[in-house]
Amino acid sequence: MKVAVIGAGYVGLVTGVCLAAVGHQVACVDKKAEVVESINQRRSPLYEPGLAEILCRVVEEGRLQAFTDTSAAVNDAEVIIIAVGTPLGPGGIDLSYILASAREIGTALREREGYSVVVVKSTVIPGTTGETVRKVLEAASGMRAGEFGLAMNPEFLREGSAVEDFMYPDRIIIGAWDERSCEVLRRMYTGFDAPVLKVNLAAAEMIKYTANALLASLVSFANETACICEAAGGIDVQEVLSAVTLDKRFSPRIDGELVRPGMIQYLRAGCGFGGSCFPKDLGALLSFSREKGYDPRLVESIIQVNQKQPHRIVQRLEGRLGNLAEKKVAVLGLAFKPGTDDVRETPSLPIIRDLRERGAVVAGADPVARENMADILPAGPGLRYTGDWETALEGSSAAILVTPWPDYVEISGSNYRRLMKFPLVMDCRRVLDRGDLEAAGCHYLGVGLVPEQGGDGYES
Ligand code: NAD
Repeated sequence: MKVAVIGAGYVGLVTGVCLAAVGHQVACVDKKAEVVESINQRRSPLYEPGLAEILCRVVEEGRLQAFTDTSAAVNDAEVIIIAVGTPLGPGGIDLSYILASAREIGTALREREGYSVVVVKSTVIPGTTGETVRKVLEAASGMRAGEFGLAMNPEFLREGSAVEDFMYPDRIIIGAWDERSCEVLRRMYTGFDAPVLKVNLAAAEMIKYTANALLASLVSFANETACICEAAGGIDVQEVLSAVTLDKRFSPRIDGELVRPGMIQYLRAGCGFGGSCFPKDLGALLSFSREKGYDPRLVESIIQVNQKQPHRIVQRLEGRLGNLAEKKVAVLGLAFKPGTDDVRETPSLPIIRDLRERGAVVAGADPVARENMADILPAGPGLRYTGDWETALEGSSAAILVTPWPDYVEISGSNYRRLMKFPLVMDCRRVLDRGDLEAAGCHYLGVGLVPEQGGDGYES
């Protein structure tokens, strides 16, 4: 099957590469000439485990080609997937990339003789595909929906495991304008071992937002619990959450084996969620809901709890170290999570900004996300980036573990002690071995854990 994918970012490129890998003929389109050039030269323009190898193979085998021009790719494609960005604007979701892309596709469809299904894979608020995108396609193509197909197929891949998530999806949601569109998409997904759920276009759009809001609610719930534990003192949020999630309604025993569902990973205290999806999707859901006349208090609170979390980290550090001016602070991890170079809405961004505002000298370390971070927050006096955690820690008065890259989680207490001027370690993910750190003479600060007043002292 010939497939065109418009937008070759995390979702579009992974979609294009994986569909080529299962045997489709794929044309990827991106406005950025450097992205297109990189793909055609068999180099992945972004970091995602396993992606570079498959991309190299499918381009070499002639099953994937990239273009800057939509019409060249749409030419003879049976499926045209829109995977462009849908950022959050001041008043809600910004559909400008979607609309531009729909116009380009519609114009190209005028020239096309065969039948094509236009599929929105980008995350868009309910009504976008069936109303907004359809009207733009109809106006630009001079056809009515039905003469071309229309579908909404939300994507659930997670950065860091995107290739695996795409290849082995939990479910394939197809929101379709008509039966014919649905059948074409089913055919595209032949061979994927997952239940296919056919729903209407708006339900497909809502499923994606609901999935993200539910997962984000677990993170903010854990962080709110952490704040309560910190306020009370002497209660470790991790002990609390670990005990709570042993409830068999969360963690059943099957054949005597304790099953720990992946969802529990979201019920962990930390410095808040980031990334390209949760923050913007919750913001878009909030605006959409209000526009429809319902004020979603819970969604609003999830966002508020999340926004406060990175600032609380720096406040705690300041509470422990006093004036941060001229003190060197190592920020370990810039990517919003391990396994990706994506820094969109990463918690390290407000953490570094707060530190700089207080005059601290910041060394940010990350194995792959330095360049992306420097694009948002350029290095300069008082802020530099390094790929090497030892350089970041050297001479610092505090280390903040933000992204739990395995190499960073494994840094031993003796290394912190050896390299740092004052070995204070703030564990924003509650993944460090506190016993090891303290045995080496480090001072440990953990989210959701503060000493009991007058008690035996969690923090020395
Ligand atoms: P991205 O910013 O990484 O990629 C979007 C790409 O589209 C960019 O490279 C941009 O140059 C290109 N583009 C914009 N307009 C274009 C046009 N008219 N023609 C051709 N190319 C164009 O975005 P992303 O992270 O891949 O997200 C894309 C969509 O998928 C968003 O709606 C997002 O919410 C959703 N989504 C993302 C993830 C994720 O983990 N990143 C997961 C599921 C869903």
